[in-house]
Amino acid sequence: MAGLLLRGARLPDGQSANLAIRGGRIDAIGAELSAATDAETIDARGCLVLPGLVDGHAHLDKTLWGTPWHPHQAGPTLRERIDHERRVLSALALSPATQSARLVRHMVARGTTHVRTHVDVGPQVGLDHLHGVQRMRDAHRDWIDVQIVAFPQSGVMIQPDVLDLLDQAVLDGAEAIGGIDPIGIDGNLHGQLDAIFAIAMRRGCAIDIHLHDRGEAGALTIEKIAERTAVLGLRGRVSISHAFCLGMLEPARLEQMIALLLEHDIAIMSHAPAGGIPFPPLRLLAERGVRLFTGSDGVRDTWSPLNSGDMLERAFLLAYCSGWRRDAEIELALRMATHGGAQVMGLRDYGVAVGSVADLLLVPAETAAEAVAAHPLPRLVLKRGRIVAREGRSLLPPLH
Ligand SMILES: [Zn+2]
Repeated sequence: MAGLLLRGARLPDGQSANLAIRGGRIDAIGAELSAATDAETIDARGCLVLPGLVDGHAHLDKTLWGTPWHPHQAGPTLRERIDHERRVLSALALSPATQSARLVRHMVARGTTHVRTHVDVGPQVGLDHLHGVQRMRDAHRDWIDVQIVAFPQSGVMIQPDVLDLLDQAVLDGAEAIGGIDPIGIDGNLHGQLDAIFAIAMRRGCAIDIHLHDRGEAGALTIEKIAERTAVLGLRGRVSISHAFCLGMLEPARLEQMIALLLEHDIAIMSHAPAGGIPFPPLRLLAERGVRLFTGSDGVRDTWSPLNSGDMLERAFLLAYCSGWRRDAEIELALRMATHGGAQVMGLRDYGVAVGSVADLLLVPAETAAEAVAAHPLPRLVLKRGRIVAREGRSLLPPLH
């Protein structure tokens, strides 16, 4: 593959340099580099080069992206939204392969180079969503890397056959197993956690649990997740998504939670929820060393029509909802959308450095904070050294 030379790009440290890309990696970075004879040269002056964006929590299989506008109709509770989604999706009979392909085109255009997606597994859908998203992933592997979490959206212990389906999903290639509110959805804290952790132990996969349960129910769940993480030797392999409870605990109880997260190296995903829902105190957690990452969550689906799948915008929303203004704070939001997600997904050689895989995003901005604040649309995106999007449009062929 012929190489690329990005001329005059601004590096994250503010220095201006040329980046030589060859063999899908950053081959050299320097002020005096010139293009190899077979390399394409790109004028990157005025552009900041960032590592490819990492969407650490999406639901690609359930998006309504690319279909006629769907006015929001679901009730306010989690259970109502779950049941409503099931009714709408079975009535629309959309293909998870097609829907996920529509959305990843948009994500590629916006600079996302890796996505972890929670894919519904349950009695109504079986493994259809999983297999559909896997077909999409195989067809798009030169454009975006997709990691799959087998996700029991409708519950684990209260539904028939879900444990067998989750186990089979991991056997079929899901890299992680999910869970959902062991208390709030299943009413069986120990049952769900024992079952999920048993599958993770048996199959050697990671764990990423949706935890919306608030207050002490959420805190108790984190304690029990931490206990099992320790007993089963899964340190560093467990993530908790949302963890709203961390945003509503008394300081002393919050400190207990932070100590557990650090001791067992449990990562927290927050996407800065809308509507005044409490969410974890991200700056405090980051200062203490808790690993943090972020994601789109559901994009234009029956849960909400508003999320967009743009991780620079997501970093903006994290900063906005957290009341952050300083560059260091805004950079933390971007770190959650880049290095934080990359760490949780186990990516190797990620970042803007010589030898790293050339998964890169160029945006017209002076600094990382400006890139987040403006989240400008003209973007050049590289996947393993190949241009996959220009001017905010992916170069993927149209879907048929
Ligand atoms: Zn989710």
